[in-house]
Amino acid sequence: MGRRFVMALAGNPNSGKTTIFNQLTGARQQVGNYPGVTLEKKEGISSRGGDEIQVVDLPGTYSLTAYSQEERVARQFIIEEKPDVVVDVVDTSNLERNLYLAVQLMELGVPVVLAFNMSDMAESRGLEFDVDAMSRLMGVPIVPTEGHRGKGIDEMVAAARKAAATACRPAEIRYGADLEQSIKRIVAQLNGQMPQMPTPQQRWTAIKLLENDAEVLATVKTATVQALVRKEQTRLEAVLGDSPEMLVADGRYGFISGVCQETVRSTVEARHTASDRIDEIVIHRFWGLPIFLGLMYGVFWLTFTVGMPPMEWIEGAFGWLSETVSRLWPAGSESLLLSLLVDGVIAGVGGVLVFLPNILLLFLAIAILEDSGYLARAAFIMDRLMHKIGLHGKSFIPMLTGLGCSIPAIMATRTLESRRDRLTTMLVVPLVSCGARLPIYALIIPAFFPQAWRAPMLWIIYVIGIALAILCAKLLRVTLFRGETVPFVMELPPYRLPTLKGIWIHMWDRGGAYLKKAGTVILAISIVLWALTTFPQLKDVEESLSAEAQQAEVLAHTTAGRIGHALEPVIRPLGFDWRIGTAMIGAFAAKEVFVAQLGIVYSVGEADEESEPLREKLRNNYTPLVGLCIMLFMLISAPCMATIAVTRRESNSWGWALFQLAGLTLLAYVVTLVVYQAGSWLGWGI
Ligand code: GDP
Ligand code: MG
Repeated sequence: MGRRFVMALAGNPNSGKTTIFNQLTGARQQVGNYPGVTLEKKEGISSRGGDEIQVVDLPGTYSLTAYSQEERVARQFIIEEKPDVVVDVVDTSNLERNLYLAVQLMELGVPVVLAFNMSDMAESRGLEFDVDAMSRLMGVPIVPTEGHRGKGIDEMVAAARKAAATACRPAEIRYGADLEQSIKRIVAQLNGQMPQMPTPQQRWTAIKLLENDAEVLATVKTATVQALVRKEQTRLEAVLGDSPEMLVADGRYGFISGVCQETVRSTVEARHTASDRIDEIVIHRFWGLPIFLGLMYGVFWLTFTVGMPPMEWIEGAFGWLSETVSRLWPAGSESLLLSLLVDGVIAGVGGVLVFLPNILLLFLAIAILEDSGYLARAAFIMDRLMHKIGLHGKSFIPMLTGLGCSIPAIMATRTLESRRDRLTTMLVVPLVSCGARLPIYALIIPAFFPQAWRAPMLWIIYVIGIALAILCAKLLRVTLFRGETVPFVMELPPYRLPTLKGIWIHMWDRGGAYLKKAGTVILAISIVLWALTTFPQLKDVEESLSAEAQQAEVLAHTTAGRIGHALEPVIRPLGFDWRIGTAMIGAFAAKEVFVAQLGIVYSVGEADEESEPLREKLRNNYTPLVGLCIMLFMLISAPCMATIAVTRRESNSWGWALFQLAGLTLLAYVVTLVVYQAGSWLGWGI
């Protein structure tokens, strides 16, 4: 005869475990109203619903850390004795606190059933649960019970038998980028140092190690792992300003809070903490979205108003630099080296570097919003919105990442389980405007729009990007990728005061990449573009022409000029001339190149010596409508080669990568065409 079916009853003290145990076994165990009554685990036999069940009443615990005797007994039993199922008796009149243990059980990867006990009490306190939705979101069976009346016990036993027979894997709570990074590093170490550990257990162990769990620490004796854990703890403490234990707890409560926000209705005022109070406003059903859009507006306002003066200083510095370098050669010199330095490198790289203050400010603002916990709320709000239109809310996390760069954003789609959701998100993520496009807006907007319009313009561009991403996702979901969406919980970790160090690190993570790119990729491409914009050289220019006409003729003769002119019939209807055309092609290597190339085109063969800012040259050559169209085209078209390459790798297919490239280019063309033609017709083009 095989082992009896073992059911362990876990739960907070006074949640009704012993009451349910007595219901099951017919025993008369002491029920009491104070913690510590059940320190020893009690066992009994039940024959409810078929085969005999060995029921174990575990001591009441709030958590599965190894702090107290009760917790150690409960945890040891679950891990070492491996019961067939753990029924977590949840006091629903105090739900969020009780679910903390449930989440830990789920993370452990054992079969769990939640008995939503005290449902009568919850009801009398004005709480209403959408049990089905909650069960779907959390991925565990939930059965409402009333222990002292014996209600729901049969259903609970049935659910427990079923859960024991179903394969389950550990729930993965996401703890935010910084913690996840630490977890990943520790898991990698565990993989190397303790290869005998089963993969699902690695993540759990890593988290426990970060939590400073003495027992788990004792099992991991490897010095390298211990050193790494300490290092990561110190790092997290410095970046986030709280102990890793607290951070992990926050992550779990964030998960619970996310679940409850979606599934619990309270008819009476029952929320207390400051975080809850802020959330009442910030993720309000009606006000949530306007607040999100308003904050975004604030970010862009900051980017322009505060970013403008330093931008002008850098612009001035590069102007001075190019004049100083020019003076090293005799006036009117035709030196190629001089042209390479001034028209190629300084105009190209300088043109891009000018926008470093704007980039840093944008990332600073994003870092503050992220570290304070607001960005999780933004994701929550968008999740709700996207659910309404039948999309997967989890997609919005990669989209938020896309504000920085599309490449990590596409890689972040790995968190989506279903391939349909993954591909949909991957394909539309580039529509969320990435950091590399900001220099283009930062160049165009002040060139064509008065001060008061600048922040709103930038805001509109970003909103158009996000709206298009959601729209295209919807379109893909109803055509190519039809099907159900998997439910999912948006974590709502408590708000915290960001640390200076954390903000600094998060800002430079992204800003530093921009600097590096300017010094490497952009520098190299600028030199190539300069060559394309210089050769072949036209030797004898028509003397009778004006200086400007001469310059145009010289440029038309060059490779870039020829490519641009060949392209002109196609881009003319969008309001673009050949210069913009060549810049657009260059932009496919990296979006910042667009700015670099305009800088180069407008400085090669420049007639006058006085170097006026690129913005002024643009203002003299194009209308605001063209400016808007440039931004739209750059926003919608594929961000860069690397994005397409990453899509190819992540989708494992050239087909989808090319589909993305073609789709985005076509969409960009159509939208820009419509805007330019409509705008011209309305008379804005003059
Ligand atoms: P334990 O600490 O988890 O073992 O909790 P007990 O089983 O000792 O129960 C604590 C108290 O809650 C007892 O007085 C029970 O009678 C009461 N109780 C158990 N289940 C319910 C329920 O569903 N509703 C209500 N109102 N009381 C319950
Ligand atoms: Mg008890």
